[in-house]
Amino acid sequence: MKLLILGGTQEARELAEKAINLPNIELKVSLAGRTNKTVISQQTRVGGFGGITGLIKYLEAENIDLVVDATHPFAAKISYHAAIAAEKLGLPRLMLVRSEWKSVTGDKWVEVENTQAAVDILPNISKRVFLTIGRQEVTAFNQIENIWFLMRMVEKPSEDNILPKGLLLLERGPFSRDSEKQLLQKHNIDTIVSKNSGGNATYAKIVAARELGIKVVMVKRPMLPEGERVEDVEGALEWVERVRS
Ligand code: NAP
Repeated sequence: MKLLILGGTQEARELAEKAINLPNIELKVSLAGRTNKTVISQQTRVGGFGGITGLIKYLEAENIDLVVDATHPFAAKISYHAAIAAEKLGLPRLMLVRSEWKSVTGDKWVEVENTQAAVDILPNISKRVFLTIGRQEVTAFNQIENIWFLMRMVEKPSEDNILPKGLLLLERGPFSRDSEKQLLQKHNIDTIVSKNSGGNATYAKIVAARELGIKVVMVKRPMLPEGERVEDVEGALEWVERVRS
């Protein structure tokens, strides 16, 4: 059976490493190619499919039997495309979505629906902001005046993206709670803007904010399609075993 993993997350990488050893499973992994450091293996393809039609064509041409959508919780478009394409071709599809962070005592979260809502609220509540939402949407903040931004992302945005005024850090997690606390204190940060990505790799900043009494503007997850879902790699492996037998 041929399994397509839609990837771009740590969980997708781990699933691929394990699924490749399953007997009678042929593996394909698809990545959007959002970073230049994308690791390509023999099983990997990179880049968009060309919408739903392109994805359907790909699934047919490659004779894919099963689809695991292990994309990032904020990559909703590809998840809807996968849902529609799999439905059309009658292919079993699973979503592997890590659980979201929940606020606990001591957290000072302001939850907002999307990035634009974060842009709208910041001038009322912040002066020095740590922006950790990735490079794709950072330019949405460049119209804000009177706020200084510390921005952290894995890779630099392209030249035509005008960044908000502040300091850019190019770093990849995981980060420790202590280093996050030091960073927040060094730059006198009063607010963090974060997506509710979930997982451990970037959770240290949330703990650091709690311990320092710093606000977190938390962007809620977008809606994802209906369908079977698991939260971890083990669950996805069990699903693959079950569906193919
Ligand atoms: P998206 O909005 O769901 O997808 C946009 C388009 O990218 C899709 O329509 C598809 O193009 C292509 N695409 C996405 N994932 C793909 C995959 N695994 N294989 C092949 N093509 C893929 O996702 P996004 O624009 O990549 O990201 C949206 C948000 O997700 C970001 O702002 C960020 O917060 C978060 N995120 C994404 C990734 C990632 O690897 N994608 C990683 C970390 C965080 P076609 O329509 O042409 O098929």
